[in-house]
Amino acid sequence: MPEKSLEQVRTFASMVSAKQGWALNTDEDFVTSLLEGLMVNWNRYGYFLCPCRDSEGSRELDAKTICPCAWSRADIEGHGHCYCALYLSHSFAENGREPGSIPDGRYST
Ligand code: SF4
Repeated sequence: MPEKSLEQVRTFASMVSAKQGWALNTDEDFVTSLLEGLMVNWNRYGYFLCPCRDSEGSRELDAKTICPCAWSRADIEGHGHCYCALYLSHSFAENGREPGSIPDGRYST
């Protein structure tokens, strides 16, 4: 699996947000740290494991936590942002609200 650069991961996140109708967090430094986490995970595991969660040990066990994770849509609809706060709803972003801590869907559903 070829390694990915930070710019390739940035393109991936932009495409996900455009396709899903979400906004990227506007905090550039914060977003870069999350993209670096995604890049490290891709280059380590071969898939985009969520940068805010630990691997369960295999691609099969991590399937729901591959970005965009299984809970992202519900979290963005319910809280205005995903667990990591990489992706926001447009209304949340436009209101200038600050993402907060939300429950990890992996353990609450
Ligand atoms: S919480 Fe979900 S959508 Fe957000 S960065 Fe992690 S895997 Fe991606």
